[in-house]
Amino acid sequence: MNWSRTGLRRFQGQLLGWFRRCQRDLPWRHTRDPHRIWLSEIMLQQTRVTAVMPYYRRFLARFPSVRALARAPTEEVLKLWAGLGYYSRARNLHRAAKEIVARHSGRFPRELEAALSLPGIGRYTAAAVLSIAYGEPHAALDGNVARVLARLFAVRGDLRAPRRWAQLQSAAQKLVAPYAPGDCNQAMMELGASVCTPRSPRCVECPVSRWCRAYQLGLVEALPAARRKRPKVKLTLAAAVLLDSRQRTLLIRPSKPDSDRGSGALFSRMWQFPAAIVKRHAQKELARHLQASLGFRGGFEGGEADGKGFVSLPPARHAVTFREISLAPFLVRVDRLPEVVGAKTPFLAELDRVPISSATRKIAAAALRSLPGS
Ligand code: SF4
Repeated sequence: MNWSRTGLRRFQGQLLGWFRRCQRDLPWRHTRDPHRIWLSEIMLQQTRVTAVMPYYRRFLARFPSVRALARAPTEEVLKLWAGLGYYSRARNLHRAAKEIVARHSGRFPRELEAALSLPGIGRYTAAAVLSIAYGEPHAALDGNVARVLARLFAVRGDLRAPRRWAQLQSAAQKLVAPYAPGDCNQAMMELGASVCTPRSPRCVECPVSRWCRAYQLGLVEALPAARRKRPKVKLTLAAAVLLDSRQRTLLIRPSKPDSDRGSGALFSRMWQFPAAIVKRHAQKELARHLQASLGFRGGFEGGEADGKGFVSLPPARHAVTFREISLAPFLVRVDRLPEVVGAKTPFLAELDRVPISSATRKIAAAALRSLPGS
């Protein structure tokens, strides 16, 4: 980037003027409270603005301050997050709130190093919070902003390659106006979200097209270079909705991501039905898994696990990052639910009181629909 000082000032003025006129009216843009900015940045990771809005409002109504969040049980934090996905964000947010109370008197730290030492806070989030809440001059570089920069400076190749990313970080830093770093960062994000979009960018309406190398060179559609995608992995996850005569069911929560035959991570380590990744004979393999993990003997006849008594429910589709999951739920009526240390036995119709992932919600919905009178 070899712009003159005047060119840089004009660019900043043009970008900021456009942002102040055209920005979307979003709730986190009406505040400088670091707690609110931080929460919005965490919720917006990998998640669309429209999906975040109701969660943001509910979360703040219950946890209006870092201290209120730090005091809450993890279970309640996860429950308010349920449905938003990527639950490690909620766990880290909660852990970070406790650290902020313990080490920073309940105030989000102002120094970059201190912010970066908190759980779940990387360079982008720290820069966004510190610039917007405190006016600290740090550039926030995420995939959106990187795309805009790649076009502005006609950067070729994989943007996530470490050297290239470092160059983009340095370019982003030079573009930040020291008198309005928060607005500069938000303006770049807004430009990437609403004008310089991944496909069909609206260059004719772009406030900075006169500085854009890709536009001048006719490379807008070619930049940035497409990244090689991780191939999709398909798998089948069989789950057992055990149901006693009072319509209570059994939920477990594996302590490690790879426990419960690898299913724990697929349910975001929240409360889930007993489940197993299966290969060919879902019923039999699930019955064997329940025997091995819970000591449950239902679904066995003549000493062989055959899954008899397991009623197959309509399958559902679910996606977790690069995994495409076929959910194969089964309803299993029991006289008594097995006694499992640390398990929960809520009513099937009341699972909304428990923090569960959307995969578990889909399974529960299939089971509820199968019951008489539903
Ligand atoms: S001119 Fe087009 S490609 Fe360049 S920054 Fe603007 S919208 Fe993006």
